[in-house]
Amino acid sequence: MYNRIYNFSAGPSMLPVPVLEKARDEMLNCRESGMSVMEMSHRSKVYDNIIKEAEAALREVMSIPDNYKVMFLQGGASMQFANIPMNLLKTGKADYIVTGQFSGKAYKEAQKYGDIHLAATTKDENFTRIPRQEELDLRPDADYVHICFNNTIFGTKWNYIPETNGVPLVADMSSCILSEPVDVSKFGLIYAGAQKNVAPAGLTIVIAREDLLREDLPEYVPTMCNYATMAANESMYNTPPCYPIYICLLVLNWIKELGGLEAMKKINENKAAMLYKCLEESKLFNNPNDVASRSMMNVTFRAEDDEINAKFVKESTAAGFSNLKGHRSVGGMRASIYNAMPTEGVQALCEFIKKFESENL
Ligand SMILES: *Cc1c(COP(=O)(O)O)cnc(C)c1O
Repeated sequence: MYNRIYNFSAGPSMLPVPVLEKARDEMLNCRESGMSVMEMSHRSKVYDNIIKEAEAALREVMSIPDNYKVMFLQGGASMQFANIPMNLLKTGKADYIVTGQFSGKAYKEAQKYGDIHLAATTKDENFTRIPRQEELDLRPDADYVHICFNNTIFGTKWNYIPETNGVPLVADMSSCILSEPVDVSKFGLIYAGAQKNVAPAGLTIVIAREDLLREDLPEYVPTMCNYATMAANESMYNTPPCYPIYICLLVLNWIKELGGLEAMKKINENKAAMLYKCLEESKLFNNPNDVASRSMMNVTFRAEDDEINAKFVKESTAAGFSNLKGHRSVGGMRASIYNAMPTEGVQALCEFIKKFESENL
C-alpha cells in the first residue's frame, strides 16, 4: 500500500515496515510529550525512558551478561577501528585477522597505536573464505584478537567462534548483529554500526566486558573515545544519537514480537537457503564463496560475462529490485538480505533470477 520496493542495499538498508509505521504514528507527539523524539532534550524524562528501554531490550534480546557494558555511540564502526586499539592496548600487542575490506581497514588503523600482527588473511583467495582455526597464528601475549564477523562486501561469515585461549576476542558485527543469537560471553568486545540491521545511520553499538575498560588511558586519547567514560555516563556524556536509539528500541521490540533471535535466525536461514539454492541451480550465475563461509546476510553472485552482470543490474532495477549492484571493489551483484527484508522479497528475487536466466542463456 506504500508502493515500497525490495531494497537490497548493503547499508543503510531496509527497516521493518511496522517500525516505520510506529515511528510515523509517534512522529509529532511521542508518548504524550507533545513533541517528536528529534525535538526533545536527551535529559528529559521521556527520553531517559527511551534510552533505558533500548539498553534493557538489547540486553534481553542478545542475552548480554551483567558484566558487559552497553554503549550507544557515534562515529560509525570506522571510528571503533581507532577506539579499540586506543582503549584495549596495554602491552601494545594485538592480532588481526583480515577477511575483507573492513577488517583490512581496522588492521591498518590499529597500526598507528601499537605492534599489530596479521594473524591470518585470505586475501590471496579474494576473501572467498574464512580461515580455519589451524591457520590462525595467534600470539598468547596479545591484548586482543580482532575479527570481522560478517564480511559485508565479500559475503562471508565466521561460522565458528575462533579459540583465542583467553585473549579477548573483538568482533565487528556491523552487518550481522541481531540476525541470530550469539554467545556474547565468548567475546571481549562486540561493535556494530547500526545502519545495516538495527537503526538509521548515526548510532554505533559497543558491547564490552567491564574488566577490559579503564579510564586511565594515554593523554592523547580524546575523552569522547574513552569507552570507560562513555560507559560510566551511560552513553550520556554528551548528546547521544537520540533518534537512531529510539528506532533501535522499536526494532528490538519488533524482534521480540517475532519471538527473539532464535525466531529471527530461522527466518534468515530460510531466506538465505532459498537464495543460495537458486544460485546453485543457476547455469548463469554463481556465488564464488566457500560453502562453509557463506554469509546469511550478504549474498554475492555473478555471471562470468560482465555485460550480463550489467544487464542484470539494469533490468532488476527496472523490475523494482534496488541496490543489487555489487560493491565497486568486487563487481557482480550482491543481495543484502538483512532482518527487515521480507521472505517474499527473496522469493521474488529468485523468480526474477530464473526469468532473467531463461531469457539470457
Ligand atoms: C558498514 C560496515 C562498516 C563501516 O561502518 P560505518 O558505520 O560506515 O563506519 C564496518 N564494518 C562492517 C562489517 C560494515 O558492514
